Amino acid sequence: MYTTSETLFEKARQVIPGGVNSPVRAFKGVGGTPVFMKNAKGAYMNDADGNRYIDYINSWGPMILGHAYDPVVKAIQEYATYSTSFGAPTEMETKVAELIVSMVPNIDMVRMVNSGTEACMSALRLARGYTGRNKFIKFEGNYHGHADAFLVNAGSGVATLDIQAVPGVTKSVAEDTLSVPYNNLPAVEQLVAEQGRDIAAIIVEPVAGNMGCILPQPGFLEGLRSICDANGILLIFDEVMTGFRLARGGAQELLGIKADLVTFGKIIGGGMPVGAFAGRKELMEHIAPVGKVYQAGTLSGNPIAMIAGYTLLHTLNENPVIYQQLDEKANYLVNGLREALGAAGVVHQINHLGSMMSVHFAEYPIVDFSAASGANNELFRRFFHGMLERGVYLPPSAFESWFLSNALTTEDLDFTINAAKATMQAIK
Ligand SMILES: *Cc1c(COP(=O)(O)O)cnc(C)c1O
Repeated sequence: MYTTSETLFEKARQVIPGGVNSPVRAFKGVGGTPVFMKNAKGAYMNDADGNRYIDYINSWGPMILGHAYDPVVKAIQEYATYSTSFGAPTEMETKVAELIVSMVPNIDMVRMVNSGTEACMSALRLARGYTGRNKFIKFEGNYHGHADAFLVNAGSGVATLDIQAVPGVTKSVAEDTLSVPYNNLPAVEQLVAEQGRDIAAIIVEPVAGNMGCILPQPGFLEGLRSICDANGILLIFDEVMTGFRLARGGAQELLGIKADLVTFGKIIGGGMPVGAFAGRKELMEHIAPVGKVYQAGTLSGNPIAMIAGYTLLHTLNENPVIYQQLDEKANYLVNGLREALGAAGVVHQINHLGSMMSVHFAEYPIVDFSAASGANNELFRRFFHGMLERGVYLPPSAFESWFLSNALTTEDLDFTINAAKATMQAIK
C-alpha cells in the first residue's frame, strides 16, 4: 500500500539528510515511513502509491482555499512567461504591499522576504537596531523559524525531535534569548523587572500553533502589550500561521491587540516561498536603504511568488464570508471529534480557534508547552496512523496545529469524524 513511498524514501535518504528537506516531514514524531505526495486538488492529496487523503495540514497553512486553487495556478502560469525573476523592482510588489496594508491593522509598510524564518529574523534585527538593545523574550514551545536566536526552547520540529539545545547555536547567541512559559505573564513581568532596559522585543505567536494549537489566556496578550508600552519594548506578533487565517487582518484583528511589528509567511505566498515583516512607517524606515538596519534578498519579491500571494490574498480580502465558513467547518469537526473520542472513552483536549485546531490526549487543559509535552503522545502516534490508513492526513506530530481549508465539504468532515470513531475502536 505504501511501497512506492518506501522506495522513494529509501532513495531520498541516500542524498538528502533524513530523506526530507524539513524535519517534521520525516514522521519521526509518529514513526513509520513518510508518505510521498504526487498531486493534490482542493481538499485531497494523492500520494505516490495512489492513496487519497483528506488534507489537514494544507502545506502548514497556505492552502487555505484548497490545493491547486485555479486562480492562483492560472496567475502563476501567466506570470511565468514574463520571466521568473528580474532582480529589479516590479509594480506587483507595490500592489501586494498595498493589499497587505489594507488588510492588516496597524501597519504602514511591508518588506517581503522568502520565508517565515527570514521574516522573524529580520523583525528581530529591526527591533534590536531600533531600540539599541540586545535581548528579547520568547515563549517556550513557540516557533519563529530556524534562525539561531530563536532555537531556544523552540516548538514545532525542535520539540518533536526533543532537542534541548541545538548544536551550532553558540552560547553567546543563546544568552540574549530569554524564554518563559506561554501564558505566564508573571514570568514576563519578573524578567522585565530585572532586565527590561536590555530587552528589545517580546516575540509571541498570538495563537500558538507549534506545540499543537494553544490559545492565549484572557489578558495574556493585553498584558504583554502594556508591559511593552511601559518599558520601551517592541511587541512582535509572529503571524506566520495566524496571518490571513484567523481573519483578514490576522490575530491583531480577531483579538483586538496592536503589535509593533508583525511577521508573515505561509498563506502570504499562496504556496510559493514568501515571508514578510511589517509595521509603522517610523519603525520600518530604519530598514535599508532608508535606514541602517541591513536586510536584503536576491529573490525577495519574486514575481511568481508575488502574483501567487496577491491572487490568494485578494480572494480572501474580497470574500470575508470565507472566514465564517472556515469557522463553521472547524466547529463542526471539533464537535464531531469530541463526540467520537468521548464515546470511545478517550480522554482528550481539543483546542481551537478559527480554522486552527489540535487534539491532545490529556485530562488537563493544554495551556503551555509543558502541558503539551505531558500528553499521551504514544496514543497520538496510533491515532495518526489509524487516520492515515483511513485516508485522513493529519500533522505527523502532536506538536503541530491542524489547518483546515475551505475546500472541505460536510461529507469530508463526516468522513473524518467516522475515521476517528473507527480508529479509536481499532486501537482500543
Ligand atoms: C512556520 C513558522 C515559521 C517559520 O516559517 P518558515 O517559512 O518555515 O521559515 C515562523 N513562525 C511561525 C509561527 C511558524 O509557524
